[in-house]
Amino acid sequence: MSTKYLFVTGGVCSSLGKGLASASIGLLLEKHNLKVSMLKIDPYLNVDPGTMNPFQHGEVYVTDDGAETDLDLGHYFRYTNSPLSRASNATSGQIYNAVISRERKGDYLGQTVQVIPHITDEIKRRILACAKQVEGTDIVLVEVGGTVGDIESLAILEAIRQFRQERPNACLNIHLTYIPLIRAAGEVKTKPTQHSVQGLRAIGIIPDIIICRCEQSLAQDLKDKISLFCSVPKNGVIEAVDVQQTIYELPLHFQAQGIDTLILEKLDLKPKQKTSLHEWETICKQIAQPKGTVTMGLIGKYVKHQDAYKSVIEAIHHGGIANGYKVEIRQFEADRLMEGGSIEENIQGCDGYLIPGGFGERGWMGKIAAAKYCRVNNIPYFGICLGMQALVTEYARNVASLPEANSTEVDPGTPDPVICLISEQEGIENLGGTMRLGAYPCRLTSGSKAAKIYDSEEISERHRHRYEFNNRYKAQLEEAGLLLSGICAERSLVEIAEVAGHPWMIGVQYHPEFQSKPTAPHPLFASFVKAMVEYQKK
Ligand code: GLN
Repeated sequence: MSTKYLFVTGGVCSSLGKGLASASIGLLLEKHNLKVSMLKIDPYLNVDPGTMNPFQHGEVYVTDDGAETDLDLGHYFRYTNSPLSRASNATSGQIYNAVISRERKGDYLGQTVQVIPHITDEIKRRILACAKQVEGTDIVLVEVGGTVGDIESLAILEAIRQFRQERPNACLNIHLTYIPLIRAAGEVKTKPTQHSVQGLRAIGIIPDIIICRCEQSLAQDLKDKISLFCSVPKNGVIEAVDVQQTIYELPLHFQAQGIDTLILEKLDLKPKQKTSLHEWETICKQIAQPKGTVTMGLIGKYVKHQDAYKSVIEAIHHGGIANGYKVEIRQFEADRLMEGGSIEENIQGCDGYLIPGGFGERGWMGKIAAAKYCRVNNIPYFGICLGMQALVTEYARNVASLPEANSTEVDPGTPDPVICLISEQEGIENLGGTMRLGAYPCRLTSGSKAAKIYDSEEISERHRHRYEFNNRYKAQLEEAGLLLSGICAERSLVEIAEVAGHPWMIGVQYHPEFQSKPTAPHPLFASFVKAMVEYQKK
């Protein structure tokens, strides 16, 4: 069977949940035993979101092969089994970069290099490359970032138009729009959807299915009106009503409206098996009826941006699912923990604290103080990346008698650089720091808490950081009671630090949150939530 292509565009405004809708559709298609590959095309000119401020862009999701990508890939991971790699996210920056590099090498043999056909050809090449990640891809689902009508996304939409013209029976367009409710008038409005579809048609794309994001279920006459004005069949108007309890309901709502069978029909695909979303139904029921609630403090620098810690927050909820508990998350600004009182007064009352990844000095002192608070009071503490570095620094200062210990990221002149760049550890000067990105194997010390939690001694986790534990301090810190229970053998790098004798105080240099799914909660998050439940019972 030849590969089919499904394009998801967005209209009216952003933040409608296009990534979640795409991920949910990907899941439903996989449940028909189809091999799905997901691609996100982002219209911005940054080559990748790695250098973008989390306040603007939200989390950077890292793949096994070390690509720094859009956070929608995290949704794809949580809902589907699509292969995720460098080929799963393309940006206009990468596309232009590739074309301009070729032009500089003289590959265009004197031609005038233009948006059409050179940029559009490169976009089409990226769509085909996504399909080639694995053998036998049935469907490539391409999500286009941004909103139809943006100048930035014009070339991408033009490439999709050409792609469809070249493969008339292999492509399908889904357009996600917004149906606002005008409360004062008590009416829902379809006009913005009509205009957005007109915008898409002006580019030469006629959508086959329209997904309507709305607050309340839409009346049939309203759906009929959308069908008439937008030229989609009546069963092609699908509603995406704001979810009640959890985003994991979305695939169930879509399935109930038959979006998957409609897609199969339109693409002339025979369903290979009957779908069952049994495990997703169970998860949603469990989330709606938890055994109890624990409260977790999230101490970070970007807590005001709701997407900055997307995967961490989702993984915590997966830990809740594993234990049948709801986790309420209280967010604390790391650089304000000492304002107007002591840290104890400001953050107390949670059943555990998580310090996620981060960069730079802001909030560092607060993170170290929070680590101390948890260590001294036997409160569960989970440090991820920078949170692990805070755990190690605090332990060095207050337990291993190195009061001036620090990370050279914060204090390049510290006499005790317990965390520093590899180049500094090896005495190479001015080399700068290159980021350690992507999956690395890690060997766990048998009998350690980490080995018990993973129930394995060999793991693979993804990284995104420059600074590392300084092996010069290994013996001294271990003597003081810090168990360095995970090592990346190929480079002798410390990946996990756990405080011996503490109920649950673990720091990991990598990002476990990137590999957690609601259907397969990451063991560290499941165990951390269990520790919070036990702490609460005490
Ligand atoms: N800033 C730290 C480093 O570069 C931690 C990075 C992170 O938490 N992702 O090592």
